[in-house]
Amino acid sequence: EGRSIVFASGKGGTGKTTTVANIGVALAQFGKEVILIDADITMANLSLILGMEDIPITLHDVLAGEAELKDAIYEGPAGVKVIPGGLSLEKVKKARPERLRELIKEISQMGDFILIDAPAGLELTSVTALLIGKELIIVTNPEISAITDSLKTKLVAEKLGTLPLGAILNRVTSEKTELSKEEIEAILEVPVIGIVPEDPEVKRASAYGVPLVIKNPTSPAAIAYKQIAAKLAGIK
Ligand code: ADP
Ligand code: MG
Repeated sequence: EGRSIVFASGKGGTGKTTTVANIGVALAQFGKEVILIDADITMANLSLILGMEDIPITLHDVLAGEAELKDAIYEGPAGVKVIPGGLSLEKVKKARPERLRELIKEISQMGDFILIDAPAGLELTSVTALLIGKELIIVTNPEISAITDSLKTKLVAEKLGTLPLGAILNRVTSEKTELSKEEIEAILEVPVIGIVPEDPEVKRASAYGVPLVIKNPTSPAAIAYKQIAAKLAGIK
C-alpha cells in the first residue's frame, strides 16, 4: 500500500497545487509510482499546471457515480498518474465528496505515493481531503495569518487521525517581516521539511503548462521541490 499524503493549508493560494505537481513529478523522476489526486473539488486546477488537456472524465464524474475510477486516471508528465478534478459547476453540485473515502482505498493500492491536493479552508470538501490522507503536509507562506490558519487545519487533521509530517514554507523571500523557520516550528509544532523560495519561474512554468522541475530544473524553487521529494523518498 502506498503512502497517501494530503497537502493542505488554511488560507488559499499558499502554493498547494504547485507543490503537489512539482513534488509528484520529482518523485516520479526518482523512480517512484506516483498518483496525484485533485481533491480541490470547486477550484480544480492541478491538471492545468501539469499541461494536461482533453480530460473528458474527472474525479467529479466518479464522485457523482457517473464514471468508473479507472476512466478518470490519466498519464501526466514523467509518468505520474493524475486523477483530475472537473471544472463544470453542474458536476460540482452532483459530486459526493464522502465517496472519496471509499475511492482512496482502491487508489492506495496503485502506487508508492498518493499525493492529494486539498482545498483551502475547513469546509466539507477540505475536511474530506484531510480525512483521506494518512499523512499531512502543511503548505504555508511565512506570514502570521497563514500560519495561524494552518494551525487550525493541523489540529483538525490530528483530530481526524491524520499524521502531520511537517510544513513546507513556500514563497519565502527572507524579508524581515517574515516569520523564521524556528518561529513557525514553535507555533505549528511540526518540523519544517522544506523551504521554497519566491521564484518568478514558478509562474512562467505554469503559464507554459509544464511543471517547473521539468521546465527549469535548476531554478531555486525547482531545487527546493526536488530536495523535499528526495526526503520523502528516503534518498540521501
Ligand atoms: P494553492 O493551490 O494553494 O491555491 P497555487 O499552487 O495555485 O496555490 O499557487 C498560487 C499562486 O502562487 C500561483 O499563481 C502560483 O504560480 C504562485 N506561486 C506558488 N508558489 C510560488 C513560488 N514559490 N514562487 C512564486 N510564485 C509562486
Ligand atoms: Mg490549488
